[in-house]
Amino acid sequence: MSDTEQCLFCRIGRGEIPVTIVAETGDCLAFRDITPQAPVHVLVIPRAHVRSLNEAAGTPLVGAIIELATQVAQREGLARAGYRVVFNTNEDGGQTVYHLHAHLLGGRQMRWPPG
Ligand code: AMP
Ligand code: ZN
Repeated sequence: MSDTEQCLFCRIGRGEIPVTIVAETGDCLAFRDITPQAPVHVLVIPRAHVRSLNEAAGTPLVGAIIELATQVAQREGLARAGYRVVFNTNEDGGQTVYHLHAHLLGGRQMRWPPG
């Protein structure tokens, strides 16, 4: 079985696992995180399987993901107060799902430094 058949976010992209979709483009999908860490916690993924930010370098995908995250932030009413967009990358970055994704977090004061 190939990586993309088993990959959780590929399966979500194919509609095999139900999620609450908040926005879609031809290349990307935005849906609510199942374990929200803030009042607004949305994941933005590419439809294509890309393992992490390391593999996305030099492709237009990162820009497309940030663009959609920004649009969702505006639509969710976060733009003025602020929000955070995070790409957890590999083990030290806290990545648990190895399909590229951005976390859009907002609706509360974020702390710094992050844990
Ligand atoms: P990361 O730890 O950065 O790889 O982020 C993976 C995120 O995926 C976590 O915040 C999880 O809560 C989230 N997640 C895992 N399974 C699902 C699911 N079925 N639907 C929505 N979000 C999920
Ligand atoms: Zn995948």
